[in-house]
Amino acid sequence: MLTLSDGVEVGCRALLIATGIAFRKLDVPGLDRLSGAGVYYYAPMSEAFSYRDGNIYIVGGANSAGQAAMYFSRFARQVTMLVRGNSLSDTMSQYLENQIAATKNIEVKLNSSVIAVEGTDHCERITIQNNKTCSTEAVPASALLIYAGAVPRTDWLAGIVERDAQGYLISGQHLMLEGKRPTGWSVDRDPFYLETSVPGIFVAGDVRHRSAKGVTSGVGEGAMAVKLVHQYLGLL
Ligand SMILES: Cc1cc2nc3c(=O)[nH]c(=O)nc-3n(C[C@H](O)[C@H](O)[C@H](O)COP(=O)(O)OP(=O)(O)OC[C@H]3O[C@@H](n4cnc5c(N)ncnc54)[C@H](O)[C@@H]3O)c2cc1C
Repeated sequence: MLTLSDGVEVGCRALLIATGIAFRKLDVPGLDRLSGAGVYYYAPMSEAFSYRDGNIYIVGGANSAGQAAMYFSRFARQVTMLVRGNSLSDTMSQYLENQIAATKNIEVKLNSSVIAVEGTDHCERITIQNNKTCSTEAVPASALLIYAGAVPRTDWLAGIVERDAQGYLISGQHLMLEGKRPTGWSVDRDPFYLETSVPGIFVAGDVRHRSAKGVTSGVGEGAMAVKLVHQYLGLL
């Protein structure tokens, strides 16, 4: 039984979950108002052309932030990464850290957070805080790109469908521990490739544990899941 947001309850024999992931939002004054106007969560690469010769700030120290820094540095005059921690090594692959270190127009500011964003109708200036000294500085910024992590939209499935430590839905062979089927598994076969710990509930796309995260893989998994749903219904 599924409950919809308007309270309507719907019965189903199979369910495909493709609820994706939500980007972790920063609670910074001015940021929401300028979102889409120089402030972007996981900015599309196409935005790089708009900031040719600009002064771009990137929040985050993981691989996605590093890849964005490398890409935007080909267009921007200066890219500055704002990293909360003491080093990039804890969160970023070594090859990417090396590339960043070797790129002249990328600067990495460690122990740094953005605490304010300002601009009339576009991002013009941000305020950065040094987390160790608590000193602040306001600097001109053409754009602020945020790569602060993402969370799968699965809170509503807690305790119903097996999730990994980050909340992604586990499916198929990833449910089989030492060849054993998941706890509570009620049918006499192993889970299908995209089937979760509940027989008949399938998962596809970004929300799936160990999925490739991207449009093409999401579409491919969706098509595969539909086939598996038919296979499942054929067994009932
Ligand atoms: C700015 C940006 C740029 C990107 N650029 C690229 C790119 O160039 N190439 C690429 O391959 N990928 C890119 N991606 C990633 C790509 O968008 C995702 O990988 C893809 O959209 C994942 O598809 P999905 O169907 O798994 O999830 P989503 O596209 O996130 O869809 C999930 C849907 O489920 C809905 N939903 C969530 N919870 C519920 C619920 N409880 N009930 C009902 N509905 C619900 C959501 O509203 C949403 O419509 C980009 C993402 C962003 C944000």
